[in-house]
Amino acid sequence: MYKDFQAFLQNEIADIKEAGLYKAERVIVSPQGAEIEVSSGKKVLNFCANNYLGLSNNPQLIAAAKQALDTHGYGMSSVRFICGTGDLHKELEQKIAEFFGTEDTILYAACFDANGGVFEPLLGPEDAIISDSLNHASIIDGVRLCKAQRFRYENADVADLEKQLIDAKNCRFKLIVTDGVFSMDGNVAPLDKIVELANKYNAMVMVDESHSAGVVGHTGRGVTEHFNLKGQVEIITGTLGKAFGGAIGGFTTGKKEIIEMLRQKSRPYLFSNSIPPLVAAAGIKMVEMMSSTNELQDKLHNNTEYFMEKMSKIGFDIKPTASAICAVMLYDAKLAQDFAAKLLDEGIYVIGFSFPVVPKGLARIRVQLSAAHETEHLDKAITAFEKVGKELGVIK
Ligand SMILES: *Cc1c(COP(=O)(O)O)cnc(C)c1O
Repeated sequence: MYKDFQAFLQNEIADIKEAGLYKAERVIVSPQGAEIEVSSGKKVLNFCANNYLGLSNNPQLIAAAKQALDTHGYGMSSVRFICGTGDLHKELEQKIAEFFGTEDTILYAACFDANGGVFEPLLGPEDAIISDSLNHASIIDGVRLCKAQRFRYENADVADLEKQLIDAKNCRFKLIVTDGVFSMDGNVAPLDKIVELANKYNAMVMVDESHSAGVVGHTGRGVTEHFNLKGQVEIITGTLGKAFGGAIGGFTTGKKEIIEMLRQKSRPYLFSNSIPPLVAAAGIKMVEMMSSTNELQDKLHNNTEYFMEKMSKIGFDIKPTASAICAVMLYDAKLAQDFAAKLLDEGIYVIGFSFPVVPKGLARIRVQLSAAHETEHLDKAITAFEKVGKELGVIK
């Protein structure tokens, strides 16, 4: 029976390869960091991790995780509501709520699960979800699982959002959903205008802070801090897998009754295992560190500013942003691939993105800055960009 299916899959895989869309994995043999070692033994400077605060290999988080292994063991072997809730889980939920200035938090195994499990328990067919067209795949999937009516607005386009809100005006409850930072352009959602429209049309707001928590805002509280909107959005989702340590785990934080209902009905929470205590312990340490000093956020912001300014000065076309994602626009898909390959030869690891990940004709290299980078790392990358840019005729 498998024979026919096997031939079918082999064909499909060949098509993916032919289209240049095949994703190969690069094997890393060192901890995550500014400099990583790949399996060939080559050391490269890493500019494509979501390790925004450099916490993936932070000694304090490692120590907290090791200690929790001794005091709380390795795994929970249970979902939260049976016997998978530890004191560390409760403490981390509280800490995350304090960090964002929200009322309560519910943890998930990943933000993919937080987004997958947030809509269906809360909204029904008489309600509306109004979603940004570039929202993360997990939001799109979560919306699909929910019976609410769907409205879509063009990326960060508040005029279009208003149109959709007018179209949805007869729905019982309306929820506007947006990523805080969009991963391909690095643009920040216009949350000030979104909240204004939500107030005008009696809608609620949900922000996914996965790429913005720890990054955007003076103290890294995300897009709600950037726009001074603490406590003014009903739902925030986020991940522990990016700036917040980079291991695993996700959360939904927000209004008390919303979180309470999710604990009753959210399927990824009810039917999937609890995160390991060591991850919760490291998460608690992470929030404590971020609450006691602004050192890492400041370093990240300085690094980002430094890199963007120098790259613009050299003549690269950079998308402006308040995030730590720097899109170096090259427009041509082949050029983006060649550029990334040449940078790797120079010891700089970045990824070129082209269609269908970004629109046709808008290929680019995405550079992700980190507090783990030192000025010498940034200078090395800028020099390499300049060299390859001249070689390929991108800059003069
Ligand atoms: C990375 C990301 C997620 C998924 O987070 P995980 O915890 O890795 O599942 C969800 N939403 C957005 C916007 C993201 O960038």
